[in-house]
Amino acid sequence: MEQYDIIIVGGGATGLGCAVDAASRGYSTLLVEKDDFGKGTSSKSTKLVHGGVRYLEQGNIFLVREALQERKRLINNAPHLVSNLKFVIPNYDVIRGPYYYTGLKLYDFLSGSGSFGASKYLSSEEVEELLPNIKTEGLKNGISYQDGQFDDTRLLISMLCTYTEMGGAALNYTEVTRLIKSEAGRIEGIKVMDKLKETETEYRGKVVINATGVFTEAFQKMDNPNVSIAVTPSQGSHLVFDKKFLEGNTALMIPKTSDGRILFAVPWHDHTLVGTTDVYTESISNDPKVTDQEIDFMIETANAYFKQDTSRDDILSTFAGIRPLVTQGKTLDTKSISRSHGVSVSESGLINITGGKWTTYRKMAEDTIDDAIESSTLTESPCVTHDLRLDHGGTDTEEARLKVYGGYASQIEDLESKDKALQEKVDPALPYTMAQVVWACDNELAKTVEDVLARRTRALFLNAQAALDATEKVASLMQQVLGESEAWKRQQVEEFRRFAQDYVVK
Ligand SMILES: Cc1cc2nc3c(=O)[nH]c(=O)nc-3n(C[C@H](O)[C@H](O)[C@H](O)COP(=O)(O)OP(=O)(O)OC[C@H]3O[C@@H](n4cnc5c(N)ncnc54)[C@H](O)[C@@H]3O)c2cc1C
Repeated sequence: MEQYDIIIVGGGATGLGCAVDAASRGYSTLLVEKDDFGKGTSSKSTKLVHGGVRYLEQGNIFLVREALQERKRLINNAPHLVSNLKFVIPNYDVIRGPYYYTGLKLYDFLSGSGSFGASKYLSSEEVEELLPNIKTEGLKNGISYQDGQFDDTRLLISMLCTYTEMGGAALNYTEVTRLIKSEAGRIEGIKVMDKLKETETEYRGKVVINATGVFTEAFQKMDNPNVSIAVTPSQGSHLVFDKKFLEGNTALMIPKTSDGRILFAVPWHDHTLVGTTDVYTESISNDPKVTDQEIDFMIETANAYFKQDTSRDDILSTFAGIRPLVTQGKTLDTKSISRSHGVSVSESGLINITGGKWTTYRKMAEDTIDDAIESSTLTESPCVTHDLRLDHGGTDTEEARLKVYGGYASQIEDLESKDKALQEKVDPALPYTMAQVVWACDNELAKTVEDVLARRTRALFLNAQAALDATEKVASLMQQVLGESEAWKRQQVEEFRRFAQDYVVK
């Protein structure tokens, strides 16, 4: 049976953060994910690397300060995946302006030397110049501030590649079905099911970490059916529109929606991303469905600000995720729950990491591995991720393109047709080429059409119909690259077409 120092369960931001931290400290590490890496909440974020202006209003200064520090670290460690973005709050009434300005100045102050740029008061003309698509009737002035933006799964894949390069083992489509315990009741391994091959294996580890996000409670029950951490699941949904609704490169921040939340309209990969809602949900899943109510609410709120009205027909894609919020008890007012994280160790030695946000994944991982060392027989080794570069993950760099061409050359003999085939787009409405499909299979552990179209590229999230149109072409190329059968291809096409329907608004 293979033996590791640390086994991590869950291949989202939290699990992969722990994996990078553990491997970079020199521990032999195994990470297992029951679906694909990022299949859960970590592919469904609003794509902001931020302190969270809203958490300031809740008085959660410690969380905001910690997240702002992490924001700076992330842009230093992955500058090709995180960018500095201007946000504007347009003011249509004179009273709230000074309130928001004071709050944002505090936000600037808390970022200290990690500031992304100072907040500023703007005239109505300046607001109009930065946000040419918003309504100008009644516009008094505005405030701008700077925050971070990223592509969540591209960063996740960068973490995955960094981790495997350091010798870490990572298995997707591998579900933990049982915890193995010693006679004294101490956890010493896991039993897993490979969902693609339908085989079972056991692995031993000195420590097992539960980084399963919204599945935390269910996983804990495998350890002890009577004990649980209260995780309140909260669903958040997004809509994706054409770029024409938010031209330029500035994000719109709506500070108070009719249900008391913040809503963003953000330029993302040449599209407009609108989100998010915050609704208590009973059903825990990696694929929550966006509700009609959420769609109507976001369209109505956006239309109060956009010059050009949007409708359901303009939605190119829609996606939802579930926040694993930590609480003392269940509450339905999910927007008031803190986004802080917590680490706990069970009697049998299971390490549970819950809550947090994408932005703070590195600090969450540092705290988790510190606690894992303290509660086990692992030899102490310090955290080194504060300035660890995450150099992978940019598929559009010249270097990456050349590597893809190199790899693909062995499969297509004629150079001219090779170049032509690779430079062809997966669909005319999408910014991705066939070369990126090959790259994802060869270098990023992509195993299914969904892995490629949803998480290695963001095709499904940008334009669901275009992703559906690309299915057959992508499946054929993947069949070749992965050496799979015609039956495999047919099944992949069928499965992806069924799955992607939920991203299309009818
Ligand atoms: C709508 C929304 C918007 C957000 N926006 C932002 C934002 O802009 N910025 C920000 O910083 N944060 C944001 N967040 C928060 C952030 O996305 C989450 O905190 C983070 O992604 C959680 O990651 P995770 O790894 O804990 O969970 P997940 O990504 O859900 O990963 C858990 C994984 O565990 C796996 N798993 C479960 N059980 C098993 C098992 N038995 N065996 C193997 N694997 C298992 C699951 O398949 C899943 O992939 C947002 C969250 C939501 C919901």
